[in-house]
Amino acid sequence: MPDITDLRRALEEIHDLSMAGALLGWDQQVMMPRSGAAGRAEQLATVSRVVHERFTRDELRALLDDLRQVEGSLDPLSDDASLIRVARRDYEKARRVPPELQSALSREASISMVTWAAAREADDFASFRPALERMLELRREYAACFAPADDPYDPLLDDFEPGMRTDEVRAVFAVLEPALRELLAAAPDEPEPRFRPGPYPRAAQEELSLELVRAFGFEDGSFRLDPTVHPFCSSLGIQDIRLTTRYAEDDLYGTSLFSTMHETGHGLYEHGISPSLARTLLASGCSSALHESQSRLWENVVGRSLPFWRWFYPRVQGAFPGALGDVSLEEFHRAVNRVRPSFIRVDADETTYGLHIILRFELEQRLLSGELAAADLPEAWNTRFEELLGIQVPSDRVGCLQDVHWSAGLFGYFPTYQLGNVVSAQIWERLLVDLPDAYEQIERGDFSAIGGWLREHLYALGRKLTPAETIAHVCGGPIDPEPYLRYLRGKSTALVGS
Ligand code: ZN
Repeated sequence: MPDITDLRRALEEIHDLSMAGALLGWDQQVMMPRSGAAGRAEQLATVSRVVHERFTRDELRALLDDLRQVEGSLDPLSDDASLIRVARRDYEKARRVPPELQSALSREASISMVTWAAAREADDFASFRPALERMLELRREYAACFAPADDPYDPLLDDFEPGMRTDEVRAVFAVLEPALRELLAAAPDEPEPRFRPGPYPRAAQEELSLELVRAFGFEDGSFRLDPTVHPFCSSLGIQDIRLTTRYAEDDLYGTSLFSTMHETGHGLYEHGISPSLARTLLASGCSSALHESQSRLWENVVGRSLPFWRWFYPRVQGAFPGALGDVSLEEFHRAVNRVRPSFIRVDADETTYGLHIILRFELEQRLLSGELAAADLPEAWNTRFEELLGIQVPSDRVGCLQDVHWSAGLFGYFPTYQLGNVVSAQIWERLLVDLPDAYEQIERGDFSAIGGWLREHLYALGRKLTPAETIAHVCGGPIDPEPYLRYLRGKSTALVGS
């Protein structure tokens, strides 16, 4: 009888190498002096090539083939059966893509990202267009590796949401679009809150951020929190989570606190994975949308709720008496929940955010199919943006050039942000059934039962189940936009009433 130990050993080595790559990546964005960039790009390319080579070896296929019988005799939910199943799926996918295409994608992406950054800075779409065309061409080639697909977008989406189909996303967005537009139209036209623009001294912000990370469930010794330009979370192991955030002394609620809560949500997911899955390819969040459901749950569902601010606002106010001394809890809470159309996706509120995503989801499909020429992107963007959000885009810089994703060849990624919002509300509704006093706990600053529930029902699973199976396991049904709409409608009613 073949033994799973050989497979485990082979995968552990690959996992260790991937984590070494992740550390190089973390260091690049947090610690590395600027001039290290060229050398770092080579190191990262080498590590990812070695990982890819090792993972796609014929020996691994032989191991997986030998284990078919063993797999059949195991409980499908056991760690071993899950490891064999997911390793096989990853392996089949990785083998479909020629190594030359894989390296062309990553090489061209790094060139194209530099071109994009300069084009955005100069507000010059024309200088980015050839790079965008090249990335589209490479991604079409990549999608063709998985032919036949029902929809050419399916293979791209599958990289972020394994098993999800484009028409499922369309169905969710078809419900969201009219509902979000209606909510936006009904939002009160409030003036800009008249807070003093700080100063919010950085040291105090750091202290508040750390307090949140610990309160949400991290124990010292298992995480770091460092400043960076674009906040992210990286896991180097279940007990080594690297959180990052961003501080601005003239802007409190736009930056550090919500970024910290967002990245802590990602981090708690990785930190809550069952230790029995450590050093395997199951030791990671299930998909981009599930991951985003957790960053959004902690940042928005918890972190923008009134009970949360009843607990935390006195601390924030106490830390910045000059800026917030005469701002009431209610004013602050309203300010961090204000619904209004804006140009930049990452600054969008919970209601309009989905409209930003629907725009990108539609346009990237049309770009990939060739129905929309890259040259016509700015016009198509601006027209549809105004239709969805009701404001006119003044420049490509805050229009179609604002996001890095397309320059990096990341087509199929955007919808997962909004699916994450949708799933966050589904999970929260389910959690409230088991923890009906969750909001009272939040108001006391006690997040242990909430964190424990999420760990038990979701985090511990890692990648054992597919996204659809994971959602069904946690929520008892398929992905459903209604809980998110109930959540937003409830919030808007409460805010209008307050
Ligand atoms: Zn995120």
